[in-house]
Amino acid sequence: MCDNKPDSIFGSLVFNEDVMRRRLSNTCYRAWKQCVEEGTPLRLETAHEMAAEMKNWAMDHGATHFTHWFQPMTGVTAEKHDSFIAPDGTGRVLMQFSGKELVRGEPDASSFPSGGLRATFEARGYTAWDPTAFAFIKDGSLCIPTIFCSYSGQALDKKTPLLRSLEELSRQAVRVLKLFGMDVGKVVSQVGPEQEYFLIDKDVYNRREDLILTGRTLFGAKPPKGQELEDHYFGTIKPRVAAFMRELDEELWKLGILAKTKHNEVAPGQHELAPIYADANTACDHNQLTMEVMKKVAARHNMVCLLHEKPFAGVNGSGKHNNWSLATDTGLNLFKPGSTPSQNARFLLFLAAFIKGVDEYQDLLRCSVANPGNDHRLGAQEAPPAIISIFLGDELTAIVNAIIQGTAYVDTCKKTLSIGVDSLPPIPQDTTDRNRTSPLAFTGNKFEFRMLGSSQSITGPNIALNTIMAEELSQFADALEGAEDFNGALHDLIRDTLRAHQRIIFNGNGYEDAWIQEAEKRGLSNLTCTVDALGTYLQPKHIELFSKHWVFTEEELAARNEIHLENYCEVIGIEARTMIDMVKRSIFPAVSRFSGATASGVAAKRAVLPDLDCGPEEELLRRLGALISRMMGACKALEDALAAPKGKDAYEAAHYFRYRVFAGMTALRSAVDELETITAAEDWPYPSYTDLLFSVR
Ligand code: ADP
Ligand code: MG
Repeated sequence: MCDNKPDSIFGSLVFNEDVMRRRLSNTCYRAWKQCVEEGTPLRLETAHEMAAEMKNWAMDHGATHFTHWFQPMTGVTAEKHDSFIAPDGTGRVLMQFSGKELVRGEPDASSFPSGGLRATFEARGYTAWDPTAFAFIKDGSLCIPTIFCSYSGQALDKKTPLLRSLEELSRQAVRVLKLFGMDVGKVVSQVGPEQEYFLIDKDVYNRREDLILTGRTLFGAKPPKGQELEDHYFGTIKPRVAAFMRELDEELWKLGILAKTKHNEVAPGQHELAPIYADANTACDHNQLTMEVMKKVAARHNMVCLLHEKPFAGVNGSGKHNNWSLATDTGLNLFKPGSTPSQNARFLLFLAAFIKGVDEYQDLLRCSVANPGNDHRLGAQEAPPAIISIFLGDELTAIVNAIIQGTAYVDTCKKTLSIGVDSLPPIPQDTTDRNRTSPLAFTGNKFEFRMLGSSQSITGPNIALNTIMAEELSQFADALEGAEDFNGALHDLIRDTLRAHQRIIFNGNGYEDAWIQEAEKRGLSNLTCTVDALGTYLQPKHIELFSKHWVFTEEELAARNEIHLENYCEVIGIEARTMIDMVKRSIFPAVSRFSGATASGVAAKRAVLPDLDCGPEEELLRRLGALISRMMGACKALEDALAAPKGKDAYEAAHYFRYRVFAGMTALRSAVDELETITAAEDWPYPSYTDLLFSVR
């Protein structure tokens, strides 16, 4: 037990700064540090020493292999393992790992989605070491975090653009801070992702073809008890789940992941884990690892961890809250209201930049959380609506309004606020007024972006947030750098910006229909599904934004759009085919048998007592007959929809899958779910929602 004390196991599988300081030569350690802090290139000799020490350290921890660990466009991580062995010429082996192998890899990567950026005949993609992320050991392999790009340098992964966006955000934020007399080296975005998930028993899972193939249930009648009693949220954790959570924490701690909070969530079988926030690059690696480790640890406890956004209809699905803030390398949080006039002016400028950016790039933020799974949640009164807005809370909104109107901002002192000259009234940290319906809530010193789906990589939303912020800060820096009267210019800029973009601020209930109408009046976007969202992805504004800040070229962006659209079609196609398979090979035979048995029962009873009342059975037979016809009709229609031509390009195909195939799936599901409620439990071929949701006891 003692062996697993958090402080003794924490980071034990990570080649972190502490290990480097102890194991590397002073020169090598300093060169690495300079590379990370100032972006200076590493010399090959340094890479050689680094590689040799990484290998020795990894072998001390039982590793035999190394892998470049990267994050292709599939949204999960990829790895290809090579052992350290090399022949020594005498029939024995040496253990080797060179600087070249550390720095660069060439996975034969022709099968990763590239959206047309890399033709299969020139299959090579390159992985390149990211020295800003620590290497670690997983399953006996030394994992080296890398970026993944094509022969000509185009990004084929999710990490490259994230790093580009971080660099640009820092550059622009440093420019702005200089205007306030602050000389900082770097600004980083800090991210704390809260991860929701479901746990179900593996034996029950194994009997659901839909869960195995698609990660969600495609059928399932509403159980008698769902989340109505709200007795699961923050409830006592069952021993089996507690054992899983304990082991999960330990595994994450070993990987240097600051797993901090764990609790039961709203739906039965649903839970959450939140780490302490880290810089965006680390947070992204760690979230990927967390999802992977959750699945592995669950398997050891004979459970399955479901990360799908909507495993079960009728109860809450799972999301991921992306808490995001900006901090200087001196540890100052730029979204924390300060106490002096200058600090508050700076805070308001960053706030104004954020508000402007979110308003101008609503569609982009919406696209960044678009995937087929999330379509089931957004706007379904369990997660934020599909409309982007910002919650500021009453105090901050009152200040914003006062600035816009130039009126007295505090009742007590009746004074107008001159930015850069006066202090703000205190803005309470993290008010008790936690509006859970807002997609983007200010929570005292950070923004909580609540629209992410539980299975998604957090890179997309963070690339969007970073780049948008970089753009607005660059505009502000341009406007203020030449100003003669800095405070006056600052005041006007903040006021004019807030005035122009106040429509994006909404503190009310985002679940109400009234908000949809109000948002429409304000001219806010309401992109209700992935396909509609992606329809806005390649608009000129987005292309300009990303190319101006070197985050994506137009070609890279178009490739990504293609990948997302294709992914949408694939996912819906797999779901539809799975439904058809389940209906034709299991559900139809089962209900047909059941209705046959019911009919035989009636005939047998009538043979004994011709005038026996068999009304209920006859009624059941009629309903079964009607529903079976409806089901098979819907099944045929779905098959026909899948067989028909889908359109001339990826967008048209996705549109077809959304409005024809998905609609057909919904019709099929409704007939099947109704059949489930009138078929004998023992004859239904799949575990019910009750069996699934309450499977972990
Ligand atoms: P809640 O569920 O009440 O929103 P949690 O404690 O579950 O809060 O999660 C909050 C997350 O926000 C944690 O990951 C936390 O580390 C993170 N966080 C706290 N401060 C910041 C910050 N300044 N920047 C980014 N993330 C932060
Ligand atoms: Mg939480």
